[in-house]
Amino acid sequence: MSVVSYGCPRTGDEVETAIQADRLTLQRMQSMQLTIWVWCPHCMAGHQINASDAKVQEDAQLDPIAAR
Ligand SMILES: [Zn+2]
Repeated sequence: MSVVSYGCPRTGDEVETAIQADRLTLQRMQSMQLTIWVWCPHCMAGHQINASDAKVQEDAQLDPIAAR
């Protein structure tokens, strides 16, 4: 599982959501054409985005316990 992020439609900046999903879950959300409501820290406002505009960060999988 990793954090779902998206590009802000107003500023184009990347925003991390509170949603955790893996690539397969995100693909299912995209096939259902889900709309996600997210709070944007850049605009200080909420955005409605399509799941097809969101992405997951698979490489951010650092486990501090396993790394010891
Ligand atoms: Zn925004």
